[in-house]
Amino acid sequence: MIIPDPFAYPVEPHRRKHGPAGYADYRDFKPWLRDEFVFRCVYCLFRERWYPNGSAAFSVDHVVPKIVAPKLINSYNNCVYSCIRCNSLKRARITIDPTEIAYGNHLRLENNGRLSALTSVGQDLIDVLYLNEENIVSFRLYYIRMLHDYNESPLIPRIIQDIEQAFGFPSDLPDLKSLRPPGGNSRSGSENDSHHARRDRGELGQYY
Ligand SMILES: [Zn+2]
Repeated sequence: MIIPDPFAYPVEPHRRKHGPAGYADYRDFKPWLRDEFVFRCVYCLFRERWYPNGSAAFSVDHVVPKIVAPKLINSYNNCVYSCIRCNSLKRARITIDPTEIAYGNHLRLENNGRLSALTSVGQDLIDVLYLNEENIVSFRLYYIRMLHDYNESPLIPRIIQDIEQAFGFPSDLPDLKSLRPPGGNSRSGSENDSHHARRDRGELGQYY
């Protein structure tokens, strides 16, 4: 089974799928954002499953920071899904909105686990978020080697188990249909396209 490159940044801007509104607390967007950004950090691409505490290691990040645009605090379109590490490094800095600009046109992963900047935008992302920090690079290499082992020996049970753990979907997929945001969902019906709904219909792949 082919597993997509986990460190390939999108080459198209992210097109929002969901549009919940009316929450008094932006943190209520979290289940929507988990689904929207496929359970991984938009900045470093690390996944919930790579952390012992899963989604608790992630938070709602404001692309335009709260202090810069307080009016956008509860705007879903200003929120993305980020690991707590990237969120805290970013602080009050404005980063490039991944729904406007595709990071894949600015960043490229090298075989040594480091990211190369293709543009000054990419270099800013690397610098602000310390995306070539030693720990981050060795973490990437760990998963790159795991994929290499799997591609070499796809039938070894231990390797399959590691791959399932690393590249499967989280077991606690959010049931968006049950949430009913106070202001509705401006992208009406998107709940039916959530990972939870697709799993219920047997349409969800094994890995991503
Ligand atoms: Zn991150």
